[in-house]
Amino acid sequence: MQRRDFFKAAALAAPASAGIAAAAAMQKQIKITGLETDLVERRPGTGRPNYDAIHKLGVEGGSVTVRVLTDAGITGWGSGSFGVIAGAPRVLQSILENEIKPVIVGKDPVFPKRLRADLWAALEYHGVGGIVQFAMSAVDIAFWDIIGKLAGMPVYKLLGGFRDRMPAYSMGGWYYDDDKDLSEFKRAGNAAMEQGYGGLKIKVGRYSLDDDIVRIRVARDIIGKDRRLMVDANQVFNRNEALRRGRVYQDMGCFWYEEPLPPHDMEGYALLARELDIRVATGENLYAKYQFTDLIERRGADVVQPDNRRAGGVTEWMEIAAIADAFGLQVASHGGGATNMNMLCAMPNALYMETSGPQRNMVNSEIPAPEEPGMGSEPRRRT
Ligand SMILES: [Mg+2]
Repeated sequence: MQRRDFFKAAALAAPASAGIAAAAAMQKQIKITGLETDLVERRPGTGRPNYDAIHKLGVEGGSVTVRVLTDAGITGWGSGSFGVIAGAPRVLQSILENEIKPVIVGKDPVFPKRLRADLWAALEYHGVGGIVQFAMSAVDIAFWDIIGKLAGMPVYKLLGGFRDRMPAYSMGGWYYDDDKDLSEFKRAGNAAMEQGYGGLKIKVGRYSLDDDIVRIRVARDIIGKDRRLMVDANQVFNRNEALRRGRVYQDMGCFWYEEPLPPHDMEGYALLARELDIRVATGENLYAKYQFTDLIERRGADVVQPDNRRAGGVTEWMEIAAIADAFGLQVASHGGGATNMNMLCAMPNALYMETSGPQRNMVNSEIPAPEEPGMGSEPRRRT
């Protein structure tokens, strides 16, 4: 029997196992049949405000949940959110329904890079940064959810797994109203330690350097000397002040120094990263790999923090993380959740997931990867 005939005969004789059937189903092209959105608004006055150096959060804003429907009966979920911009979720919803939907309906969701190219081509004239990128990111996350469900695998394995659990730290040290004695700050820090986190991030820069020093000392007392303490300045400083305070944070043993400058000051980030030994972390306000490449080529960060809602969804985030890896840099998520877990677990240079609050199944400050097919997180539909 010829070699070719042997394989042909073997293929014919093979039992039609579930695995082969699933593979055959994957080969069949599927089509996007629709896109649905839910607006999740947070009304003024319904939340307790908390603050970073420049923002007031927890009072108004919202998010949009998106569902991408297919003719295979599989629905992919994604979302985009805003901390503080009250009207933005409605704008995002409109872009998804009126601009994104007509481009993707009828196409195959297992081609997210092709779809990204189609969306760039369709939307670039009114801009693919800003809120349009939030919309493109949300559907990209939904495409990957579909791909995982179709393959019957968690997304991190489809992306090429590196680990099945991720170290997490708590974003727990905000500014609050009427908290001059730092009682709320202490309560939040202690709660994070009771929840089992091995690291704590606190906000700095809203007031004086002396105030920062007090906050860092109090936080250090709470976490002890062996846990890591990160400081986050949320863009508030100019270059001189960033350098002056950064030297103090560094001497106080902080692990990383996040967003000391406005995100566009790439040259300033390069200056800080060169002058300071403490890790400079930034990226949560950058869009797409082109801005990250600008930052990384200038050596403007030690820890790169793309936000999957802003930077471009799973497809773009993974490319950003790979570019960072090639330059010997680490990546950390901006925010937590299943999408971040899937991406981080697929990157060898992933350092931390940012999150807060009690985490089910967290052991030694590590969160296990979602193991259900797809992204592993379907936001509950608003009723
Ligand atoms: Mg931050």
